[in-house]
Amino acid sequence: MALGKDYATQECSIARALEVVGERWTLLVVRDALYGVRRYNDFLVHLGIPRAVLSARLRTLTEEGVLEKRRYQESPPRDEYVITERGIELWPVLRTLAVWGREHLTDCRLRYFRHADCGTELGSYGECPACGTVVPVADVLITPGPGLDPDPADPVSRALLKPKRLLESLEADPA
Ligand SMILES: [Zn+2]
Repeated sequence: MALGKDYATQECSIARALEVVGERWTLLVVRDALYGVRRYNDFLVHLGIPRAVLSARLRTLTEEGVLEKRRYQESPPRDEYVITERGIELWPVLRTLAVWGREHLTDCRLRYFRHADCGTELGSYGECPACGTVVPVADVLITPGPGLDPDPADPVSRALLKPKRLLESLEADPA
């Protein structure tokens, strides 16, 4: 029997949310969108994901209002995928998964997440321990960690060698 795409017998809101973001790769696409990745090829190269899968995930996330498709060039037509408010609200989920993964599965530190105003590393729940506030997503600064080994062919990992704020469009430097 084929595995169904949804959890028909589940009224639980976690099950409903997983119908949108629970497929393999989906949350990694959302993660990259929060980092400021917007263009198809940047997702493709940074994730190392098959094209058909990336196209399917972008379509679902756009239909569900997590990403918004915007035309940035007319000739030839090119679209980019910009994270919406609904998508930005997934940041605490990803933050918690990152902390959980580091605690139980890997201690590799590719990136640090800091409060842009004061430079303090965020706490487990996305709060700034120094300022005592939950840091708005746009005020989170990503800085490279010691485990980072950027792929020279990947414009996204190269761009993330420099500190940048979440959500800020990542204008990948041409090679
Ligand atoms: Zn702070």
